[in-house]
Amino acid sequence: MSASIIADFRSDTITQPTPEMRRAMAEAEVADDGREGDPTARRLERLAASLTGHEAALFCTSGTMGNLVAFMAHLRPGEEVIAERDSHFLRFEAGGVTAVVGAVPRTLVGRAGRMDLEELAREIQAGSRHRPRTALIVAENTHNLAGGAVLDAAYMQELSGLAAEHGLPVHLDGARVCNAAVALGVPVKELTRGCASVMIDLSKGLCAPYGSLLCGSEDFIARARHMRQRIGGGVRQIGHMAACGIIALEQMMDRLADDHRNARLLAEGIHEARPELVNLDQVQTNMVLLDTEPLGITAAALCERLASRGVHALPMQPYIVRFVTHRDVTAEQIAAAVPVIVGVL
Ligand SMILES: *Cc1c(COP(=O)(O)O)cnc(C)c1O
Repeated sequence: MSASIIADFRSDTITQPTPEMRRAMAEAEVADDGREGDPTARRLERLAASLTGHEAALFCTSGTMGNLVAFMAHLRPGEEVIAERDSHFLRFEAGGVTAVVGAVPRTLVGRAGRMDLEELAREIQAGSRHRPRTALIVAENTHNLAGGAVLDAAYMQELSGLAAEHGLPVHLDGARVCNAAVALGVPVKELTRGCASVMIDLSKGLCAPYGSLLCGSEDFIARARHMRQRIGGGVRQIGHMAACGIIALEQMMDRLADDHRNARLLAEGIHEARPELVNLDQVQTNMVLLDTEPLGITAAALCERLASRGVHALPMQPYIVRFVTHRDVTAEQIAAAVPVIVGVL
């Protein structure tokens, strides 16, 4: 049975480019980015660098490419990268950090996306005849599999302080770091400037159809640009896509607060009927996790039943359904979706 769509909560990646983005794409000033450089891409890169408090930035095809290029620039084969066990780059990026870079991941189980810093300090190793050398620490803000959990400025500062004590860089997978900044009411750079590199995704809640920005020092970004070329990520008249990114960074950030409000509406609506299924404390940004275990059915089975009634969500773990709010789900759609979800539950 298929139903007309009431709300599509599968991901903020399904957002359509805005009419203004489509216009900007058509009208962008462009040039061969492999030769003299594309002026619109340069503008976007300068904008991202200033947003994150870094010297330079590199426009990449996707968040996955931004992370991969960062790993290629930070790591050599056989070196170790420490990260939270459910990090996006370990779960959803086709194994690039090992397949392409040859690095060894060492993982810690986090709480709400946070690695315990004392545990982290114990895991760092200097390298020896037998042991791989720890060469990079990765953090994720907001943390996707932890349901959009926010790492605050104090945590980020402690983490980068700890890394600095060991002479290690931190790469921040900041695909949704703008959500974190909006949720905390702080400028993005409060969360990013202590990291050696940060990746920001334009194609999530910021609604661009394409792209991410990898930010860091001039030297790091020069190395990353070389690595991007190596994996075929150097694109010619890329300004057409960069034009959307400029709109995403300049105009779409404040609206993330709407997504956060809507996530709360959704969570509260479900919680009111079935408090054991949703943890309201976990709802920090634009995601709501629903625990299907008390219902005795899998996340996939619940998603199928919801879809047959026009509400779309994703099974993120065997017993966890993830709902994501974004620009293409309105508060009215949420008001309509809540009774449908509650009815299915
Ligand atoms: C989506 C996401 C990525 C990858 O971004 P794509 O643009 O889909 O390649 C990386 N990290 C996190 C935390 C994400 O949520």
